[in-house]
Amino acid sequence: MTGFDAYQVPEEHEAVREAVRAVCDGKVAPNAAAADETGEFPQASYDALRAADFHAPHIPVEYGGAGADALATAIVIEEVARACASSSLIPAVNKLGTMPLLLAGSAELKQRYLPPVARGEAMFSYCLSEPEAGSDAASMKTRAAREGDEFVLDGAKRWITNAGISEYYTVFAVTTPGVGASGITAFVVEKSDPGVSFGAPEKKLGIKGSPTREVYFDRTRIPADRMIGAEGEGFRIAMRTLDHTRVTIAAQAVGIAQGALDFAKRYVQERRQFGKAVAEFQGIQFMLADMGIKLEAARQLTYAAAAKSERGDADLTFFGAAAKCFASDAAMEITTDAVQLLGGYGYTRDFPVERMMRDAKITQIYEGTNQVQRIVAARQLLKGA
Ligand SMILES: Cc1cc2nc3c(=O)[nH]c(=O)nc-3n(C[C@H](O)[C@H](O)[C@H](O)COP(=O)(O)OP(=O)(O)OC[C@H]3O[C@@H](n4cnc5c(N)ncnc54)[C@H](O)[C@@H]3O)c2cc1C
Repeated sequence: MTGFDAYQVPEEHEAVREAVRAVCDGKVAPNAAAADETGEFPQASYDALRAADFHAPHIPVEYGGAGADALATAIVIEEVARACASSSLIPAVNKLGTMPLLLAGSAELKQRYLPPVARGEAMFSYCLSEPEAGSDAASMKTRAAREGDEFVLDGAKRWITNAGISEYYTVFAVTTPGVGASGITAFVVEKSDPGVSFGAPEKKLGIKGSPTREVYFDRTRIPADRMIGAEGEGFRIAMRTLDHTRVTIAAQAVGIAQGALDFAKRYVQERRQFGKAVAEFQGIQFMLADMGIKLEAARQLTYAAAAKSERGDADLTFFGAAAKCFASDAAMEITTDAVQLLGGYGYTRDFPVERMMRDAKITQIYEGTNQVQRIVAARQLLKGA
């Protein structure tokens, strides 16, 4: 797919939306409250997404995947997030984890690791952040030392989504100390490799059904052919990956916001005060209007960024950061307003909008905080000045 019109979502993409929505309404949304309440991975939702081939839709057909383009993948993630933000991390993080391979992996590595993900037998996580290296990811400490035809990894990665559940991990580690970003290399590490272990699940504000854990490497020995791209190219691959996958976080934010707006819209038409539906008050209508306007602006920017991701446009870095930043800020505002529209009921777990508000918050933080997105966007603007 190339060159779709960003101002008109093609019919086949709308057909994808319908298909995902049907699966999510029937088999994902019903598990969302329980995943939030128990903090357990929503296995039934994973199984439903896998059965319909929506668990890793971006994997190319040549590796046994569905071959969804960047827009179709964004729509899948948006629709899953509308039902359950935690579950939307399944297709989103499968894309995040495999993107380094797709961008820079050897033919052998891709042939070995992508088909199991496409078949739904394995998930793929992305290990960049560390306890002392978050926004400043290039200051990472995890070390990969060459010993003949092998590398030995030592260190700790923090905040790794789907850690423990994923079979495969893209790990960024320092191969040449003291030279900063140009000393970082990317590797595929398997859960079963020696010396790989996991921390306790983090106790989080939202996306509670998505496991977030530390990943430890204690003299983890892997063959050198697990290297993704060339030695020293890792940080560039990590950043290039995020250019593409920030679009998927924007889509997740749009989906969460749409779920909240849909619920609040129905509620205000049913809830009666002062002898009429509260939707009849202009104060409520203006809030709904602003929510809808922000949501549609976020969606259009996200889809335009998806088109740029698919084509590999030169301004993708700006658009990926802009879409993620704008859509996540919009989602935070829209979900907060949805709670407001339900009054006291919105503040309780009897209704889903408080969960959506808590889930929306993470989209302003991960894959680079929104402060970092603004740094990236400003840099791109000034570069051309
Ligand atoms: C639930 C969850 C899941 C995650 N999943 C993954 C994952 O799968 N893989 C992975 O690698 N990482 C993951 N992360 C990590 C995430 O990307 C980082 O938390 C994020 O990049 C911020 O890093 P930090 O938490 O260390 O914050 P810090 O970098 O310590 O930032 C603290 C504050 O300072 C601000 N700040 C920092 N530098 C600047 C600056 N130069 N200018 C202005 N403000 C600045 C930040 O915006 C923030 O407000 C996840 C995080 C969470 C919470």
